[in-house]
Amino acid sequence: ASGHSLLRDPRHNKGMSFTEEERDAHYLRGLLPPAVLPQELQEKRLLQNVRELESPLHRYMFLVDLQERNERLFYKLMVDNVEELLPVVYTPTVGEACQKYGSIFRRPQGLYISLKDKGRILEVLRNWPEKSIQVIVVTDGERILGLGDLGCQGMGIPVGKLALYTALGGVRPSGALPITIDVGTNNEELLNDEFYIGLRQRRATGQEYTELLDEFMAAVKQNYGSKTLVQFEDFANHNAFTLLEKYKGTHLVFNDDIQGTAAVVLAGLIAGLKFVGGTLADHKFLFFGAGEAGTGIAELVALEISMQSHLSPEEARKNIWLVDSKGLIVSSRKESIQPFKKLYAHEHEPVKDLLSAIKDIKPTALIGSAGVGQSFTKEVIEAMSLINKRPIILALSNPTSKSECTAEQAYSWSEGRAIFGSGSPFDPVKYNDKLFVPAQANNAYIFPGFGLGVVISGAIRVKDDMVLAAAEALAEQVTSEHFDKGLIYPPFSSIRKISANIAARVAAKAYDLGLASHLPRPRDLVKYAESCMYSPIYRSYK
Ligand code: NAP
Ligand code: MN
Repeated sequence: ASGHSLLRDPRHNKGMSFTEEERDAHYLRGLLPPAVLPQELQEKRLLQNVRELESPLHRYMFLVDLQERNERLFYKLMVDNVEELLPVVYTPTVGEACQKYGSIFRRPQGLYISLKDKGRILEVLRNWPEKSIQVIVVTDGERILGLGDLGCQGMGIPVGKLALYTALGGVRPSGALPITIDVGTNNEELLNDEFYIGLRQRRATGQEYTELLDEFMAAVKQNYGSKTLVQFEDFANHNAFTLLEKYKGTHLVFNDDIQGTAAVVLAGLIAGLKFVGGTLADHKFLFFGAGEAGTGIAELVALEISMQSHLSPEEARKNIWLVDSKGLIVSSRKESIQPFKKLYAHEHEPVKDLLSAIKDIKPTALIGSAGVGQSFTKEVIEAMSLINKRPIILALSNPTSKSECTAEQAYSWSEGRAIFGSGSPFDPVKYNDKLFVPAQANNAYIFPGFGLGVVISGAIRVKDDMVLAAAEALAEQVTSEHFDKGLIYPPFSSIRKISANIAARVAAKAYDLGLASHLPRPRDLVKYAESCMYSPIYRSYK
């Protein structure tokens, strides 16, 4: 290959880090300025460049450009500065990027499959340059974060998630495939936007939708085999539950909005109870929002309770209550209740609003995932603080504008007693001269390590016990030193170590369940996981 094309190949390009020898061997002489810069220096310069950019969206675009230009340098920057760059590559900034995807579009990333490709999805998959794929993240763009239907512009989400799979979980970039399935959009604004990148039609539903997804799932298996993890991401909940249920017995599938969220929040609750005392079974949990996130968390909490306290699943669900758009979900409700909510429809008279539900149920923890900003009002937080010495308040809705309350509100309205976590990041808050560090219940704690565990064990199915193992592994990473600071999650700066531990536990569970195909089972799974992780350090090309 010519030196020129090497510089334009993001997977191998090192820019000014090519050594004298490499410049000679690969016809690069003259194509680069004479100085040779070490990777660390390139990294330092880029970090300065990023910081000089005023708007988060520009930082996002800068990083995407870097990823397209010099992949290892992009990941080096990400790995070394996770806490700073996560909110740029992922929520909240990725939300804005998706909304404006059409106008900021430069080079295509990921693979687009649309209704036009019906009958030849396999062909489309074969156009992707990489043949050995470990993780696919796929969306149909119908519920991007809490922003709703962004159609084809949802592509920012699988691209961003897979960047985190690599940066935080060490999945190699060439094994990662972002896919957007375009079945149309019901977003009028996009349909009328001259720069919209997707099909200009309303969403296909019913049989047409089902057939396209069936063809897609079959093509994935045929092309890549049965050990490629397919992560469903940001599907609307009516499809998300159905797809997971439909494919979990035949394919290696994971839904991060349901299962990943559940694991990260369960870990936070387990850690949070260290401050409150008692076990999960001793407490009541009230969910505001009973969709993918809410019911996913509820189910995993119930599973953990039934394991810890040897209760039947029905018993374990008794202390878990859900509120949806129609109020508290109760068995006496007149309208029909969707199957995934039915398990929580306990006996109680109808209650319309959240505040009354809190007063009736008296929960220890309030978990918001309704996508309704500012729904945890002063009255709501005060009611929680009246019932509990240390109320657990989780405001999970994303992006920041949809958060149920801000960190500052949670701390000040609870007079500094709330154990607070949120979906989007908040800065530390000073209240009464004390510094409070809000926890971020970020799915990025779980899915990269979870995916790595699946990949290194060669698991062929995902079981709830593996998700539970991931949650327990995360909760165990919270040390007494963290608790002293009021944290319910370990800091992101050690995420690669956290991911390796999660991966090891998930893999161990897969082996225990007889679902792992990479044999023999490695002796030390943590070490093994670490040894499998992608390193962003430049290779030398002799
Ligand atoms: P979803 O499946 O669409 O569920 C939304 C739920 O909220 C539904 O049960 C809906 O009620 C309910 N709801 C809507 N408006 C309401 C209102 N005014 N009052 C009470 N309930 C209301 O969405 P999802 O996947 O669960 O995601 C929801 C939010 O959680 C998003 O903002 C997402 O970004 C966030 N999230 C955060 C994390 C995290 O922090 N780690 C992870 C995943 C998701 P009906 O069922 O009656 O329609
Ligand atoms: Mn999501």
